[in-house]
Amino acid sequence: MSLTLDVFEIARTRQTVEGTLELDEMPELAHFIQALEGSLKFSVTGLGIVERLPAASLSFEGTVVMQCARCNEPVSVPVSRELVFRFTKTEAEANALPLDEEGDDEEVIVGSRSLSVADWVQEEAILSLPAMPLHDDCEMDYENTWSRLKSPIPSPLSPRSSTEPEHHAL
Ligand SMILES: [Zn+2]
Repeated sequence: MSLTLDVFEIARTRQTVEGTLELDEMPELAHFIQALEGSLKFSVTGLGIVERLPAASLSFEGTVVMQCARCNEPVSVPVSRELVFRFTKTEAEANALPLDEEGDDEEVIVGSRSLSVADWVQEEAILSLPAMPLHDDCEMDYENTWSRLKSPIPSPLSPRSSTEPEHHAL
């Protein structure tokens, strides 16, 4: 059974809830990545009332495996984020708030007494993924991949014509 949180109670009591999530609990995230290395650690801490609304911080940390945008081989990408959420009771209340009250790492959402942690974390994890995951040293990987493929198309990096003069003696 997946974990749900009463975010209003967490905010009020300032409690901390920590745990781990596996990829099979986060099917939306699974669309975007190849695998999760280990599990995703999360921590939710109630912050009392922040600017008139109940609030909590959410942080998560893990390593995902994505496809390198340059060489198409798997690449490990660390993901971590810490955000502050303020909770309204209704959609109308959220819509009534001025937009400029939200910062980069702060969001207002409609709170719930049974918010799915997996849904909450996977949504923020997806937003934290790089658009172009790349190996740090991918230039080298790219050349290795190229020669491993043994493509029939001559590589511009090693033109066949340069080896032809060595065929003469036979
Ligand atoms: Zn690469």
